[in-house]
Amino acid sequence: MVHNNQATNVFAFREERQLEGTLGRSGVISTPHGEIATPAFIPVGTKAAIKGVLPEAIKDLGGQAVLANAYHLYLQPGPEIVDEAGGLGSFMNWPGPTFTDSGGFQVLSLGVGFKKVIAMDTQTFRSDEVIAEKKERLAHVDDDGVTFKSHLDGSLHRFTPEVSMQVQHRLGADIIFAFDECTTLHNTRGYQERSLERTRLWAKRCLVEHGRLTSERTHRPYQALFGVLQGAQYEDLRRKAARDLSALNEDGTSFDGFGLGGALDKENLGTIVRWMCEELPQNKPRHLLGIGEPDDLFTGVENGADTFDCVAPSRQARTSAVFTRDGRVNLSNSRYQRQFAPIDEACDCYTCTNYTAAYIAHLFRAKEMVAATLATIHNERFIVRLVDQMRESIKNGEFLEFKREFLGRFYVGSPKRQAT
Ligand SMILES: [Zn+2]
Repeated sequence: MVHNNQATNVFAFREERQLEGTLGRSGVISTPHGEIATPAFIPVGTKAAIKGVLPEAIKDLGGQAVLANAYHLYLQPGPEIVDEAGGLGSFMNWPGPTFTDSGGFQVLSLGVGFKKVIAMDTQTFRSDEVIAEKKERLAHVDDDGVTFKSHLDGSLHRFTPEVSMQVQHRLGADIIFAFDECTTLHNTRGYQERSLERTRLWAKRCLVEHGRLTSERTHRPYQALFGVLQGAQYEDLRRKAARDLSALNEDGTSFDGFGLGGALDKENLGTIVRWMCEELPQNKPRHLLGIGEPDDLFTGVENGADTFDCVAPSRQARTSAVFTRDGRVNLSNSRYQRQFAPIDEACDCYTCTNYTAAYIAHLFRAKEMVAATLATIHNERFIVRLVDQMRESIKNGEFLEFKREFLGRFYVGSPKRQAT
């Protein structure tokens, strides 16, 4: 594949250090808009904005890349507007690397309270899958794609693998994801098998369309395509998905990396990530989709995931829930009204450097907008830094000690209790 500017079109991953006895590793992802040192947490800007925080603040707090959502940007403002703006990064004044999630999850999980409706005969459903029967059906899956209604105005739309690739090429993120069907843990085994095959066929179509668009849109920097692995809680399906997608090659186009997706229950997260990473090629990066709790991040890193994204740090911040070394706390608790000290003394974020917990607690009570801004900066920094520290600890050979120390304190409780 010939690109107009080889120097700025590099996408590569190199592994630096392995975490002994595990699949965990540190490394570097190179994109046309810069490098990402991994493991890394990627802040989420669903609609090309991290809610309440300027992109400059995300850079200042150490965010190496941002992840936006193709479904949301397709509906608003529309991919052609983002394309005309020069792509997602230019549009939102974020000079670094960008990701877009394919929208597969969003088209299928539209709107809280609406579950997906599957275009299949009803006798294969379990009772918990005959979904929202009295409610309006917002998404229908068939072998060719998904038809769905906009959550904004109810208008009807259709995503196919080809449409998702066209949308994501116009959005122009450095790393884009294949269109997949995201199943839930409640789907039957039979459904998971059929769905996995559908996702595999969609992955092939994504590669073909991605190859076509890449050779056509030579005025744009190279975009890396990640295949998304499903298979729910089944070992054979997860391993099969990893083997199948890493073997795909459509006229010289193969996946540049992989998204570890779908239903992942907390209890088995590490095991499921390990199954997939054992099958995946070592020289390609792996993104664990939608994971951001501290213990889950340690588990993901230890089992071979390189990058992570999650809306939780910013979403929780807006409800005044903030991270500290001693666990998550809520600033609405009256004990913060007189905490004339930072949220966390050990935090180096802009918020903790300049403001007290008492002041931010007041801002939340007074419903001042800047409350969410300050809390979001803190939470995003806390999680970005935590994963940065995991990376450093892999390099120093101290990952397991760091994990034990951090999780012991974060989940066990106060430093006083630790001391005794
Ligand atoms: Zn802070």
